[in-house]
Amino acid sequence: ERLVGASADREDQAVEAALRPKDLGEFIGQERVREQLDLVLRAARARGATADHVLLSGAPGLGKTTLSMIIAAEMGAPIRITSGPAIQHAGDLAAILSSLQEGEVLFLDEIHRMSRPAEEMLYMAMEDFRVDVIVGKGPGATAIPLELPPFTLVGATTRAGLLPPPLRDRFGFTAHMEFYEPAELERVVHRSAHLLDVGIEADGAAEIAGRSRGTPRIANRLLRRVRDYAQVKADGIVTREIAAAALAVYEVDARGLDRLDRAVLAALLKLFGGGPVGLSTLAVAVGEERETVEEVAEPFLVREGLLARTPRGRVATPAAWAHLGLTPPGSSAA
Ligand code: ADP
Repeated sequence: ERLVGASADREDQAVEAALRPKDLGEFIGQERVREQLDLVLRAARARGATADHVLLSGAPGLGKTTLSMIIAAEMGAPIRITSGPAIQHAGDLAAILSSLQEGEVLFLDEIHRMSRPAEEMLYMAMEDFRVDVIVGKGPGATAIPLELPPFTLVGATTRAGLLPPPLRDRFGFTAHMEFYEPAELERVVHRSAHLLDVGIEADGAAEIAGRSRGTPRIANRLLRRVRDYAQVKADGIVTREIAAAALAVYEVDARGLDRLDRAVLAALLKLFGGGPVGLSTLAVAVGEERETVEEVAEPFLVREGLLARTPRGRVATPAAWAHLGLTPPGSSAA
């Protein structure tokens, strides 16, 4: 597992419950989403109605699960949490839907990974609060209509574009979650440090925030590693120096790149003069699988403007040379 990976590892799962903001007021950043959601929920409450279905799109670790729990809390409703891959058959979905209470929030993570029959059942459930349960097999099979209590579906996906339009259209409200600004992540770090009873200086929080790749989950994870270091090597207080030294041990650099990210960049710059070079050639040079380079390392390098994917191959940007402290060939050594 990578320290800067965005999906939750076992340790994250154990501590995240304690770090989750409980209401919209506590939720940091994502101003537009918060404002819109606040209106949607207030209006539903005023009408005494169940809130519209909500689609949350965005990268892992940006707060989609947290927001779904906040939606339930703000509506005073219970919540059920499941995911697309956990729903193999339409029957699995029918069992969940038919056991929902009125007004309950159903959080469906990775909704784009649901099976096709389940997806079709969901269309009807979202629109008419009804499902057809198929009983029996073959020519004797019959569809028994089942009324459902009104509920709020909160679907989460990495990209809204992955959803078939008929599913996307059935959400009353779609929110796109952006990566967080460093200043927002600093607030996340301060808040978590407070909850974990860790003493931290403003500079220390900034140092962690700058290495957290725009992602609160990563910020919280780096904070825990820095806390360990501060306890073992110093007096427990997280200063800028302590944060930098701790994260150097884990090979997470000032910009949040880890060893794999830097290996890819270094190969691109030093072996191929900054490219263009084909993905497979680059992967061999780094000693990694093609998929690892493409799916694990490249997205962040592209997002950071360090690497570009072009039709002729991978190309390093001037910022990549600067980040590794190297001089591009042909540039006059100043
Ligand atoms: P996702 O479901 O998008 O993968 P989560 O909701 O599980 O992300 O959030 C991951 C972690 O990041 C949680 O521990 C949560 O406390 C924290 N987090 C996410 N968004 C925020 C935020 N806006 N403010 C404070 N903490 C946040």
